[in-house]
Amino acid sequence: PEEVQVAVAGGGPAGLAAACALRSRGFDAHVFEGAEALLRRGTGTGIMVSANGWKALAACDAALPAALRAAGVEIVRQNITVCDEGGGVARAVGRDAGGMEERFGYAQYNVPWADAHAALAARLPGEVVHCGCKAVGYRDALEAGGVRLLLEGGQEVRCSLVVAADGAGSALRAQVAGAGEGGGDDARPTTQLLWNALIPTERLEGVSRELPGVHRPGEVEFVTCGLDGKAILAFDSGADGLTSWYLTLDESDAPEAVRAALRSGDFGGFGHAGRADALREAFSDFPGALALLRATDEAAIFERRLADRQPLSAEQWHDG
Ligand SMILES: Cc1cc2nc3c(=O)[nH]c(=O)nc-3n(C[C@H](O)[C@H](O)[C@H](O)COP(=O)(O)OP(=O)(O)OC[C@H]3O[C@@H](n4cnc5c(N)ncnc54)[C@H](O)[C@@H]3O)c2cc1C
Repeated sequence: PEEVQVAVAGGGPAGLAAACALRSRGFDAHVFEGAEALLRRGTGTGIMVSANGWKALAACDAALPAALRAAGVEIVRQNITVCDEGGGVARAVGRDAGGMEERFGYAQYNVPWADAHAALAARLPGEVVHCGCKAVGYRDALEAGGVRLLLEGGQEVRCSLVVAADGAGSALRAQVAGAGEGGGDDARPTTQLLWNALIPTERLEGVSRELPGVHRPGEVEFVTCGLDGKAILAFDSGADGLTSWYLTLDESDAPEAVRAALRSGDFGGFGHAGRADALREAFSDFPGALALLRATDEAAIFERRLADRQPLSAEQWHDG
């Protein structure tokens, strides 16, 4: 469309939730998604939704919490185990999550990212989601009392409001917040590397749930492995019997095969050949991590370098 009331750039969870919130309040909000298809495979993650998340979703659209919960699994306990470098347990603490509903009004759930995304998408009429529409910027349309969302290819969409929800590499953030310190182009890569996957929990059959790093049903298992940034995380995800696991390492402790991939630019994304072996080498003293790796096809392992961004100041959140 050439004109809508609100143009939301980006059809990830944030953009879809924003569009739901606006539409439930009577605004004609449309989503402009850069990718050719809205629903994608995700990156092998499960999203943990706690009381604050449920409250935010309910405020967007009263039907959203039930829709996402139907795709999720309730988390009943969180366990943290502190191990030394050799895998010995130094300390273990746990906390029941069961009281959250009474205290905060909502229980904690884990929902596979792709299912949460699909549940959000299902709340929007198909005709207000436009794929293959990559936002490249915006400009004032003062003559029309509003703004124009600029799309790749030269198309422009006139609207009263643009919502920038185009993700961590946002093209619009740089324009709203300004470049430089605290601005749009200040992603700060860390030295922490993350691998994660979603696997059918039944593949862990026969694995002792007492091993540090292997979660029990409905529980979250977080293990620090003696070195800064080295950790294992695993929990149930979703209503269909999935397990979500994560392994992290500081770059300086990564096996040579991983460092070579970083040097050659061949790091990141799904299913690098040999990565499971490299992770087995790095976590050789942690049978829980080895069990998770054994249960996982290499093609399902996603990897990334973690990064963060400077928070924006109150003035940088909007323009005009
Ligand atoms: C390993 C991992 C675990 C996580 N676990 C949790 C968790 O437990 N709980 C939690 O709340 N969060 C979690 N997150 C974060 C959560 O996944 C992200 O916060 C969420 O996906 C962000 O949603 P978003 O819509 O802001 O961005 P994205 O999901 O990145 O969506 C951005 C969308 O915009 C589109 N886009 C990009 N550029 C353009 C453009 N120029 N024009 C138009 N469209 C564009 C993209 O194609 C995409 O569809 C996790 C993230 C990771 C990586």
